[in-house]
Amino acid sequence: ADLDQVAAAVSVCRACPRLVRWREDVAETKRASFAGEPYWGRPIAGWGDPEPGVLIVGLAPAANGGNRTGRIFTGDRSGDWLFASLHRVGLASQATSVHAGDGQRLIGTRMVATVRCAPPDNKPTPAERDTCAPWLLREVRLLEEHLRVVVCLGSFGWDAALRTFRTLGYDVPRPRPRFGHAAEAVLVSPAGRELTLLGSYHPSQQNTFTGKLTESMTDAVLGRAARLAGE
Ligand code: SF4
Repeated sequence: ADLDQVAAAVSVCRACPRLVRWREDVAETKRASFAGEPYWGRPIAGWGDPEPGVLIVGLAPAANGGNRTGRIFTGDRSGDWLFASLHRVGLASQATSVHAGDGQRLIGTRMVATVRCAPPDNKPTPAERDTCAPWLLREVRLLEEHLRVVVCLGSFGWDAALRTFRTLGYDVPRPRPRFGHAAEAVLVSPAGRELTLLGSYHPSQQNTFTGKLTESMTDAVLGRAARLAGE
């Protein structure tokens, strides 16, 4: 399978009843400010460079963001924050990510959601996380020979990335690396290549509004990712 086939296959996945209901309910009801707009209302595929040095691993699409626009981190506040920073460090062609036809382009970078359907309160259950994990694994398997850096937005993505690369036979340091903002861990592939895992607080409003995550903190992690990947 290639990335397009994985994207097509995931787009019709209905394996998690609670998330299928939620993503479709939100798409049907719509937030008032988007009342006249179509909603995607389906799982969100990975997006960006098909041969990326940098992979950004998020949590799940936002109900009125990715679940509306059909593109990860597009059309919501977290995406605004993230793309402004990606643009500043040279990993995105534009500073905003508004809709799927906006001309935005990721540079040497790809983004994926750990759980591919929007969950209520942005909180997937452990069972939903585990049900969706094979999609992340399938995509990473197609990318891994190019990857130098994986940026994990939040501990949920950090844990999922560690599990995924362990399944792929990577050597993970012991004790198990702990998530934190600017945390770093070097994993080694079965072929002996090094891959750096970088942690970042998730750019959700509860972090950016409270000042727990500042622009310069985001730029520091994404800038480090760009340098490690040689972008
Ligand atoms: Fe399928 Fe993942 Fe969506 Fe569950 S969260 S329905 S496994 S795409």
